[in-house]
Amino acid sequence: ELKWRGKFQDCVAETEAQLQKESTAGYIGFDPTASSLHLGNFQQIVLLKRLQLAGHKPIALMGGATGRVGDPKMTGERTLLSIDEIDAYIASQKKQLEKFIEFGTGKNDAIMVNNYDWFKDFSFLDFIRDVGKHITVSYMMSKDSVQNRLESGISFTEFTYQLIQGYDFLHLYKNYNCKLQLGGSDQWGNITTGVELVRRVLGEKVYAITSSLVTKSDGTKMGKSEAGENIWLDPKQTSPYKLYQFVLNRTDEEILNLNRRFSFKGKEEIEAMEAEFKAAPHLRSIHKSLGQELTTMIHSEGEYQQAIALSDLLFSGDIETLKATDYDGLKEVFGGLKQFTVSRDKLSQGIDITEFLVADTQIFPSNGQARQKLGENAISINKTKVAGDCKVTTQDVLHEKMILVQQGKKTYYFVELAQASELIEIFSLDDLKQLLPRLATEKFMFLGGGSNVLFIKDFDGLVIVNRLIGLCADPINENDIHVTALSGENWHEFVLWTLDRGFFGLENMSLIPGTIGAAPMQNIGAYGVEFKDYCLSVDAIELATGELKSFDYAACDFGYRESIFKRAMKDQYFIYQVHLKLSRNSPIHASYGNIQDVLNRKAILSPSHRDISDAVIEIRSSKLPNPTDLGNAGSFFKNPVVDKEKAEILIKEYPNAPNFPDGDKVKIPAGWLIEQCGFKGYKEGNVGSHKDQALVIVNYGGATGQEIYDYSEKIIREVEKRFKFALER
Ligand SMILES: Cc1cc2nc3c(=O)[nH]c(=O)nc-3n(C[C@H](O)[C@H](O)[C@H](O)COP(=O)(O)OP(=O)(O)OC[C@H]3O[C@@H](n4cnc5c(N)ncnc54)[C@H](O)[C@@H]3O)c2cc1C
Repeated sequence: ELKWRGKFQDCVAETEAQLQKESTAGYIGFDPTASSLHLGNFQQIVLLKRLQLAGHKPIALMGGATGRVGDPKMTGERTLLSIDEIDAYIASQKKQLEKFIEFGTGKNDAIMVNNYDWFKDFSFLDFIRDVGKHITVSYMMSKDSVQNRLESGISFTEFTYQLIQGYDFLHLYKNYNCKLQLGGSDQWGNITTGVELVRRVLGEKVYAITSSLVTKSDGTKMGKSEAGENIWLDPKQTSPYKLYQFVLNRTDEEILNLNRRFSFKGKEEIEAMEAEFKAAPHLRSIHKSLGQELTTMIHSEGEYQQAIALSDLLFSGDIETLKATDYDGLKEVFGGLKQFTVSRDKLSQGIDITEFLVADTQIFPSNGQARQKLGENAISINKTKVAGDCKVTTQDVLHEKMILVQQGKKTYYFVELAQASELIEIFSLDDLKQLLPRLATEKFMFLGGGSNVLFIKDFDGLVIVNRLIGLCADPINENDIHVTALSGENWHEFVLWTLDRGFFGLENMSLIPGTIGAAPMQNIGAYGVEFKDYCLSVDAIELATGELKSFDYAACDFGYRESIFKRAMKDQYFIYQVHLKLSRNSPIHASYGNIQDVLNRKAILSPSHRDISDAVIEIRSSKLPNPTDLGNAGSFFKNPVVDKEKAEILIKEYPNAPNFPDGDKVKIPAGWLIEQCGFKGYKEGNVGSHKDQALVIVNYGGATGQEIYDYSEKIIREVEKRFKFALER
């Protein structure tokens, strides 16, 4: 059965004969590393179910003990989970398993066991006498999981993992007459240690089968969506709609493979389905049938029906269908795509469509592009085509909260109305001055681009969005220029504006998101250059008096991601404009990060300032996910700056630890510290650390501000525990 389903990878000799000889108890281990099981685990669950249907007895082993250790992964040590986390994960995974397999006390009923029950009283001495003595180090070293880690290093804890898993088999054999272990092919090494241990300790033969991992047509592990996130069985983490879409989006080759693995239909029926599919692949009959089978099995018939209705919306539907579908459903379908917000205030006055698409939502980067698409009749609002002269108003708001923008056939943007108790945009100093009396008594906050703000709940006060724009330049002498910029201007656009005019200095800070007004707040910086290096002064309105005050360079009290506006003068000033000194012959800074590598690759020997900007844009775009494609909070943590003694201790223990002198102290990259704790690419629910850049916290869709905050707290705790450095956000 497993062979024709394409699941079979390897087995211990005579396993098939054993299964044909008698009803056999077989187990699969589930390590509780997350609150939910995912599609990769589901293939193991399906295996247990098939075992049960074939008349054998399934045992689901929850890794309360193995989870405390962690099996060695290719990329490095795992971060240890807390005992509370493990217990909570076991409890929720148990519930999920119960949904798929029949548990009970009958001969063929499944049972669930937790290896913590037999390990909790096992003393270290007993373990090395009773277990360790039977397996040689060279045997353990020969396993791929250990070999893979010899160069990067493997702790004794993870090295020992295979003995703990091995002992499980021995225990289950002795206590439950369990003669079979099943698992994914990556578990072969750990599984055979168990087989070997039973043989050496008891002289008995036990059996094992591994199943090939589900891979995509490009050979990578299946079970992750295009955004790289796992397909979870928990509907809160992966909705039935997303699961259904995941199945529908498989290639022909993948779907044939998945159908054989996951479907409970018999061989004949599956072969007939395959013939029908191959005759007319465009009908996607297997995609639909497996989508139905899996969505119904993992969730329910009702949720499958809803997933279908939502899927239809993407390709058909009109404004009436949008009105008839509730907000949560629409958010499910379209909210996972690019999302923008717009002010209700402004909508009530009507917004010119081009302005709406560019300035308000930033769907298009320029008026020219927006006009071109409108001219091509390619833009729809709420599934209705719109022309270039139309206005978007509150009439276009669906379900009180959203507007759906569509470009061409397939590209959607989900525009939500900003949810604050009140959101006001200010376009002039007068607008701000009119608000000042309210600011004396009401809760408020200023918002630039919002790229450095994390809302952990709705803000129940007045949000003032800065839309003050204006730039001017005055020559100081033949080289230097005094540039004045109003605070609502977009930082990156401003950097490009200065480069266009031959005013240099800011090029290394290209592509930092946000507005000019927020730049002095935290003295933004990148690639070896900071805002303060070019700042002459900052003009700000004192909120208590309405007076415009000028803070010269010294008064701004700039530090590493610090200024007086962030500390002593917090919430007392509105930053109105900044004065910078730029230069036509500003020095080139190419030594930081990978800038020089990019220049070398492009064979640029004497780079211009524009070349540096282009290189920074290229590096940032390749290293940092674009927030409009994959929600992320950029570099969330500051690099700790520590005393020399503390740094020396670290470098002694980790000779490869990157470190940079910073005055009489040493700066340690936060990204490296976080990566060492195993967070790079780690994911918890919808939040995680980016796979290429541990510093970047990513929202894979649907994570709340609170979840992101909690995740950042976890990172801080782990780094503190391991390195005794306090990370700051
Ligand atoms: C993907 C990504 C990459 C990033 N990369 C970098 C980087 O390389 N270097 C770096 O330094 N930062 C970086 N950041 C952080 C962010 O870009 C900067 O902090 C930026 O200055 C924030 O600008 P903003 O307009 O979005 O500010 P907001 O997030 O809107 O506001 C930030 C704070 O400033 C206050 N504020 C904003 N405007 C004013 C004003 N006019 N007067 C008074 N208070 C005001 C707000 O109330 C808030 O407290 C990154 C962020 C992201 C998401």
